[in-house]
Amino acid sequence: MKKIWETNSPAETAALGEQLGKRAKKGQIYCLTGDLGTGKTVLTKGFAKGLDVQEHVTSPTFTIVQEYHDGRLPFYHFDVYRLSSEEEMDDIGYEEYFFGSGVCLVEWAELFPHLIPRDAYWLTLEKDYTKGEDYRRVTLCQEEEI
Ligand code: ADP
Ligand code: MG
Repeated sequence: MKKIWETNSPAETAALGEQLGKRAKKGQIYCLTGDLGTGKTVLTKGFAKGLDVQEHVTSPTFTIVQEYHDGRLPFYHFDVYRLSSEEEMDDIGYEEYFFGSGVCLVEWAELFPHLIPRDAYWLTLEKDYTKGEDYRRVTLCQEEEI
């Protein structure tokens, strides 16, 4: 499965995230990839809004995973950029989150491809300067329905 959206402002990317968050189901994992500044955080904030999370969503760069429990489903926001081994992923107890009853969104999941379940959704954000500074292409892929 593959879907592509094009946005031309942060608000449009947030709105896309919100739509995805509204439709998210328990147990799903969303992996976000894209260079710095492509809008991963913007999309994540919209996603949390779509899950009715009221708490302020901040980047979990130093905490690795941030939990939100006041939305429609538990929401677990990971940023695994600072982790350097699968063992460290074990240490934070990633399995409890991935195979739990909430929704996971993982930034930099491409660093640990072997740990990501095959039914995870991958969202890739890309710029294309020929289409303007605020243009972003967002691609949703899922390898396998289980
Ligand atoms: P990342 O988390 O991928 O590093 P951020 O979401 O923190 O990126 O930042 C994205 C930046 O790009 C913000 O400053 C935002 O205002 C800007 N921006 C411009 N156009 C867009 C767009 N279409 N979608 C998302 N962000 C955009
Ligand atoms: Mg970010």
